[in-house]
Amino acid sequence: MSLSKILLYYTFTPIADPTAVMLWQRDLCESLGLKGRILISEHGINGTVGGDMAACKKYVRKTKDYPGFKDMEFKWSEGGAEDFPKLSVKVRDEIVAFGAAEELQVDEEGVVGGGAHLNPEEVHALVDKHGDDVVFFDGRNAMEAQIGKFRGAVVPDVDTTHDFIAELDSGKYDWMKDRPVVSYCTGGIRCEVLSALMKNRGFEEVYQLDGGIVRYGEKYGNKGLWEGSLYVFDGRMHTEFGEDYARLGHCVHCGEPNDVFVNCANEDTCRKQVLICENCVADPATAVCLDCAEPAGPAS
Ligand SMILES: [Zn+2]
Ligand SMILES: [Zn+2]
Repeated sequence: MSLSKILLYYTFTPIADPTAVMLWQRDLCESLGLKGRILISEHGINGTVGGDMAACKKYVRKTKDYPGFKDMEFKWSEGGAEDFPKLSVKVRDEIVAFGAAEELQVDEEGVVGGGAHLNPEEVHALVDKHGDDVVFFDGRNAMEAQIGKFRGAVVPDVDTTHDFIAELDSGKYDWMKDRPVVSYCTGGIRCEVLSALMKNRGFEEVYQLDGGIVRYGEKYGNKGLWEGSLYVFDGRMHTEFGEDYARLGHCVHCGEPNDVFVNCANEDTCRKQVLICENCVADPATAVCLDCAEPAGPAS
């Protein structure tokens, strides 16, 4: 039995020929028996792959041969090839889909004009200095914040990353343009782009949480400014930083504490993920999201 692992990584760096990099990466992964998903654009690479430990090590070494990838950080996590249905290596306009391919500028140092990176200790220092003036700005989909967020954070009304530009342009957040703003997301990649888009729109003092909630949680657990569960994009759906976490999520039907998202049972027409407890999921009438639920009462 050999040990297996999952690798998570991204970097923003100019890629002159994304198709050539895609073909090279596909061959490399196939030859090593890795599965997972890799996106490549003119702005960089964003990947999650799993396989044998030895194959993962070799993948990291070979990938770092490409000059733009030589300083890329790889996060190692539990799992393996069996956690992915197949290998998918694709060229896209963007490695995170903000709909900002034209606006985003990238050079050898990464995203041009992004927010300054703060590690968890530096975030605390900023809060010590400026107190409640500091605004935490959630860079994820609004749904993810239903089960966990930074205390007092502003959660934009976005279903997908694609909605951020319209949201920022709406004027709703203009009040924070002269305040210190700390943008945060799961692992940091979304804030690389988001913080640059915010600065381009006149937000003067924008920071980004380096390594995202994941690194913050590893450092401070539930003893810092983070509250609740972290939504994750794998079979686990959510994860916590220790048992002593705050339960922010509630079943949309009965209100019981609940951190588990399920797909709305109306799967043919509705793709919403929604917080529904075990009891309510068992009843077809409450196994659906609120929009799909039969109107109760005489309103109709
Ligand atoms: Zn319920
Ligand atoms: Zn629904």
